[in-house]
Amino acid sequence: MTSLVIQTAFLGDVLLTTPLLAVLAERHGPVDVVTTPAAAPLLETHPAVRRVIPYDKRGADRGIAGLRRLAGGLRAERYEAAYLPHRSLRSAALALLARIPRRVGYSDGWRVLYTEARPRPRDGHEIDRLLALADAAPRHQTLPTLQLSVADVARARALLGMETIRTPFAALAPGSIWGSKRWPHYAALAWRLVERLDVVLVGGSDDARLADGIVAGTRDAGASHHAVSLCGRLSLRESAAVIQEACVLVTNDSAPLHFAQAMGTPTVAVFGPTIPAFGFGPRGPRDVVVSVDGLACRPCSPHGPAACPLGHHLCLQSLSVDDVLHAIEETGALHSRD
Ligand code: SF4
Repeated sequence: MTSLVIQTAFLGDVLLTTPLLAVLAERHGPVDVVTTPAAAPLLETHPAVRRVIPYDKRGADRGIAGLRRLAGGLRAERYEAAYLPHRSLRSAALALLARIPRRVGYSDGWRVLYTEARPRPRDGHEIDRLLALADAAPRHQTLPTLQLSVADVARARALLGMETIRTPFAALAPGSIWGSKRWPHYAALAWRLVERLDVVLVGGSDDARLADGIVAGTRDAGASHHAVSLCGRLSLRESAAVIQEACVLVTNDSAPLHFAQAMGTPTVAVFGPTIPAFGFGPRGPRDVVVSVDGLACRPCSPHGPAACPLGHHLCLQSLSVDDVLHAIEETGALHSRD
């Protein structure tokens, strides 16, 4: 019988859950997944997934009525087991209301609503902590996975062609929903990079204004290469296709980092108020983390606050463009795809 996974957290968390989906699919066949409408396209094409069930918990399905309606639909599927990687009361209640007989969650979650509570490893990468939910041992350097369609790749390439982007090009992801995690020197980095190669800004429509400002700044550089913003102009999988085409992605500690991991693109990850030891860092063989050592206030929050509580934002302000350029060199990306 098909298992159900309920994962309604952020986009990055959904991608990090894909190795767990793969393990469950190996054991019992492809799984069904309840996730947010925003994250659904990340799983619709995934080989470990039979069906994606969008749960618009803040919109059409909000409140108890929406929860009961969705639970009723799930009940009809007669799932044998539900896996609950997100420590959310709503997810636990959904599995209970759907009368799924086996409900597997973490022991630091809503134990009273689970039938099995597995210890959540305190340390290690989030991918491995998620695998523990299925009692699966950490798999050495496992990365998230994302299946692109032919149309995703074609659309991404068409847009890159329309914008006269030449390979190799660098992708930059300057946004983050947490303000304090945004490295403030992307404009200066783009200015320096267009001396050597084209630059593509990636992100959602919320990042478009920031990216437009970065692109505008490069127009005075008088360089032979140019920068464009594709923020808000592509679907999630098309954005991943652009990242796949890039020779390197420079990103904050945010969702694009995990997209690059899934696409195997060398990643330079700039960490400020958070640290890779939280479990969300890059783990590809050519990835490089840029961060400041010896700052007493760092890390200051599990997610990164909206703004630096001390006002100086030294954790990211002090990381220079040269630091990031050095990290890009360290990945070898500028040379291997020349
Ligand atoms: S308190 Fe420290 S770690 Fe937190 S945002 Fe400010 S500078 Fe960064």
